[in-house]
Amino acid sequence: MPDAAEQAITSTNAVSLKRTFFRTLAMLIFLMVIAINYKQLLQHYSAFSLANAMTHIEPEHLLSQGLMLDLTHFALVVFILHACWALVITLSCRPWFVISSNDNVKTQIWLVLLLLHCILVLSANAYFYPTSLLGFFRGTPLATGITIATLGLLLFANFIYALLGTLASHNRRTNTLFVVSLLVFSLVPIYLFTRNTNTPVFSTSSDRPNIFIIGIDGLRPDHLAYRGADTSLAPALNQLLSKSLIYDRTYTPQGRTFVAWMGVLSGLYPTNNGARFNLAPPELINKPFPILGLLADAGYQTTYAIDERRFNQIDANYGFDRVIGPKVGAADAIIANVADLPLVNLAINLPLLRNLFPYLYINRAYGKTYDPLLFNHEVLHTLSLDKPNFLAVHFCQLHWPFTSKDFIELDKTRWDGNYNHYMYGEMVRKVDMQVADFIAKLGRRGLLDNAVVYLLSDHGEGFLLSQDRLAATDTEVRTSHPEQPTALNVAAWGHGTNILSQEQSQVVLASLRYRDGKPVNPVGKIDGLFSLIDVAPSIVANLSPTTSETISSKRLKFDGQPLPHDLTQSLRPNDNQRHIFVESSLPVRSINTSFIDDKKVMSETASHYEIREDGRAVMKPESYHNNIQLKQRSVYAGHWQLVMLPKDERLILVDTANKRWHNLSEYAGDAPWETMLDSLCQHYHVDFIDTPRSECSPSFKQSLIRNNSDNARYAKGENSSR
Ligand SMILES: [Zn+2]
Repeated sequence: MPDAAEQAITSTNAVSLKRTFFRTLAMLIFLMVIAINYKQLLQHYSAFSLANAMTHIEPEHLLSQGLMLDLTHFALVVFILHACWALVITLSCRPWFVISSNDNVKTQIWLVLLLLHCILVLSANAYFYPTSLLGFFRGTPLATGITIATLGLLLFANFIYALLGTLASHNRRTNTLFVVSLLVFSLVPIYLFTRNTNTPVFSTSSDRPNIFIIGIDGLRPDHLAYRGADTSLAPALNQLLSKSLIYDRTYTPQGRTFVAWMGVLSGLYPTNNGARFNLAPPELINKPFPILGLLADAGYQTTYAIDERRFNQIDANYGFDRVIGPKVGAADAIIANVADLPLVNLAINLPLLRNLFPYLYINRAYGKTYDPLLFNHEVLHTLSLDKPNFLAVHFCQLHWPFTSKDFIELDKTRWDGNYNHYMYGEMVRKVDMQVADFIAKLGRRGLLDNAVVYLLSDHGEGFLLSQDRLAATDTEVRTSHPEQPTALNVAAWGHGTNILSQEQSQVVLASLRYRDGKPVNPVGKIDGLFSLIDVAPSIVANLSPTTSETISSKRLKFDGQPLPHDLTQSLRPNDNQRHIFVESSLPVRSINTSFIDDKKVMSETASHYEIREDGRAVMKPESYHNNIQLKQRSVYAGHWQLVMLPKDERLILVDTANKRWHNLSEYAGDAPWETMLDSLCQHYHVDFIDTPRSECSPSFKQSLIRNNSDNARYAKGENSSR
């Protein structure tokens, strides 16, 4: 196109058009610089410090080759996009320039056209992406469909007229070629937008069911109807759950997206799959997932899809045939923070152009242009129509910072003074609509004619709500030192930051069995204690006929156990004594004050990260080992949780049924703490090799037992004296 355009420019009045082009380009770049500075004023942090806060990028990381390449690519694409726009404006001036030879008149014509083009782009940006910082026309008559359509058509007609005029002055053969290629170029997007989308239907000779794991980031069970919440917050999810088998008390192995998903897909605890943190060094992680090999052997196409990959780097290296989602890399955070430019926003979701923005397209972290239905569309189009599918898809709209492409209306009935919690609720509505759309489209494609669906969340979210706080027991309050009150952080913002915050680790887990598009499974809540690591063994157990030899040949070993299929399936004798392990990520001090000041929060941890050759942010291996020592660790049994904190001698026993915590050395009840302590020490013994914990020594346990019986006697004596 530039060649032909150049010919067009040189054909008439060459100097003036060429000059106009460079004038236009200079003007657009000047406006872009103003826009970037204007955004800076609004944002209060620089793009770099925001990026630093989010993915721990330090200035020296900019030397990383992969990161430099990604940033250069983005800058180049933005430049070329604006150069093409300058070319369109220049060409549009041509027919008017032919009429007048007066330079002043020409300049005025140019200015008018430039202004109209800028208004069109700004209006369209404000109309389609109203939360853009540069959407100043939002709410004005300029940002309405009718204005944009009228102005767009006028300018388009002007451009086409100019183009045809240019071509008419050229030799006929190249002209025809150029017109044809131009028409194709402009018609392809129109075709893609308006084509008749006959839904292709899934048909397979295999009798194996499609397996869908549908993950929703940060969805708290207590915000759903089955735990007594208002149904209107997530109508579609509640309806789906009312037809599901719900594993009511399910915990994540760790309240972090990547670690939780590693648990889901490996069936192993973090201690055994190597993923103890988000952004863990890839060489320390056991991959690919053996279950994917087994599924591939059984004829499955395996797909992983996620709409925010800043903290979840699962990709083809983990054994998936296909991976959908934005590109993974540290450049994500920087690009997402400077990307908000009208022309870029308008280009991101366009067919053909979207490939130029691998860090921005279907990236929920760039919420200003993220279109939930477009992500659904991408995932659905990747699914095989003749092979059974294994799809693990994760929807991240519910992740902090709880923003979306559209403005959130204020629902005064829901406002509780907690801003983050309010926004979270509103995003629950949005992700509810997205998942409903996704499942409806699976059905329409025949993908639910024979399917197993697991619905889960990767972790909960802490908002310091009053109902989330654990209370100290009377004994704890009484025996605590007056100067040193029972300072224990029992609640925290976010997820993975505090394992005493039950709402951070409790997750949704439910399963459905579809036949002919309808769920046919038993419905209800199943008693027991479950973990996300139970999903992988359940899938393998259902993969009949899977012989035990295949499993052993794939070296399939799981920490989890298959989930029960129905409510009548009697709990195995040891199910009541099942122990579930939950560990924290890095406990971050400033997270307990507020997580709005993410710059401060992350400055505590930023030095733990490095950027690799491929442009990915990764925790430094040496920090990784040190950070493991800072973890909080816990084990659940029945309604009890036993917690070991990193810099606290106390062992904390939590009664989750009554939302109370005890200092174990003051405890006198009948909680099975001895076996819990044994399994906690056993499960994390590798962590304690270099830094042994006195709590795991036999003498410590003996003294606890003595204390325990003393306390019991004391309690009895006290009761009888009453
Ligand atoms: Zn998550």
